[in-house]
Amino acid sequence: MNFFETIVIGAGLTGLTIGSLLTEKNREFVILESDNKIGGRVKTEKFNDEFLDVGFHVLFENYPNFKNFHGIKKIQKQYFKSGFKIKVQDKFYKVLNPLRHPFGFLINNHFPGFSNKDRLLLLKLLLDKKILTCKNIEIINFLQNYGFSSEFIEYFFRNFFGGVFLNYNLSVPMEYFLFIFKMFAFEKVCIPKEGIQTVAQTLSKGITKNSILLNSKVKKILNNQLETDSGQKYSFKRLVCTDPSIELCMDSSINSNVFRDITYSSTHCYYYECNVENVDEYLIYLLPDTEEIVNLYFRKANSGKYIISISSMGACTDQSEKKISCEIQKIFPTITNLRLIKKFFIRKALPSNSKYFDYKDKSFLKYSKNIYFAGDFLSYPSSNGAIESGMRVVKELIKLER
Ligand SMILES: Cc1cc2nc3c(=O)[nH]c(=O)nc-3n(C[C@H](O)[C@H](O)[C@H](O)COP(=O)(O)OP(=O)(O)OC[C@H]3O[C@@H](n4cnc5c(N)ncnc54)[C@H](O)[C@@H]3O)c2cc1C
Repeated sequence: MNFFETIVIGAGLTGLTIGSLLTEKNREFVILESDNKIGGRVKTEKFNDEFLDVGFHVLFENYPNFKNFHGIKKIQKQYFKSGFKIKVQDKFYKVLNPLRHPFGFLINNHFPGFSNKDRLLLLKLLLDKKILTCKNIEIINFLQNYGFSSEFIEYFFRNFFGGVFLNYNLSVPMEYFLFIFKMFAFEKVCIPKEGIQTVAQTLSKGITKNSILLNSKVKKILNNQLETDSGQKYSFKRLVCTDPSIELCMDSSINSNVFRDITYSSTHCYYYECNVENVDEYLIYLLPDTEEIVNLYFRKANSGKYIISISSMGACTDQSEKKISCEIQKIFPTITNLRLIKKFFIRKALPSNSKYFDYKDKSFLKYSKNIYFAGDFLSYPSSNGAIESGMRVVKELIKLER
């Protein structure tokens, strides 16, 4: 049986953060990953020279935890325009963020339902520091009480942030909502040119190849040892699990069912290829009057055609696929040669049970004497949250050595 000081289960962003920091600190460890590649929920597939992310992902260039990993800063990125385009009453309106596109904002800053009062309140909300104290209020109620018009709440907040949180009720903690709201206002929004998986590859760079064992699904965990589905046995001094479902592998003597009611939101992502004129590249389109489409964006492919990336939260059926094609043709009548090139269904996309978020202000859980859980589900559902959790659990492990 192989022995390791620390075993990490999962080579997603949390597991890779842990591996990267333990490598930096010269600690002995191994990461066991059930998949045949690293990245977990950050995955990219290649289609005819195009990098297609498995689910629509964006990053903020200055996510606070990226500053600890210089490689991430150096990733080649494609920037989004800060703002959105919305179709209301059969007309498109472009709204640009005044903080990032002051001139564009002078021309592009209106749509029916976006009143002057809403504009002022947006500014006030951005600068308001006091609201951080009211944690347990529902976001939609809060926005209503703050004075935003119901049209603006529906068209902007529900549509834009519903797509970000994969949840139209915006049922996330106030602190997290404000964090993301301010990141969109003040920071550059981007995606890596070679796909979101570049973030995982970058985090893994410092980790030696033989410290990550792929195709190693853990199926049984005891106090100091575990077994994979191929029958490999490992013993450990400390174990970090980065997915709540791993709790199901715990022997009944240690399983305390902490994560029994964890929930995830799901999403679909469709990639189409087409010819089209007069569309904005790398700008988020909001389409509140469609049934299936949450948001979409256009980008030009190497072939000269456009790729449309579409997010949806409805059921993923043949019917919904047909509906999406019809909706696109209806919204953009100048589109020709529309062709679905790839679709993904992500059943477990974002953890949605906020009772586990920022778990006890620590972002990780000490499960037993020597077993820990870490991951976005214990922090916040984002790349930044996953890295945060990984960093904080490593800090704890190192502290305990002293
Ligand atoms: C569609 C989608 C869109 C998103 N959009 C954004 C966005 O725009 N911006 C943003 O910041 N974040 C976004 N996120 C969130 C971000 O991707 C996640 O928060 C982050 O990737 C979570 O990383 P993790 O390591 O905590 O979890 P995971 O990536 O889930 O990693 C857990 C790993 O554990 C492995 N594993 C599980 N069980 C076992 C076992 N028994 N044995 C061995 N291995 C096991 C899994 O295979 C997996 O690799 C999005 C996520 C999705 C899915």
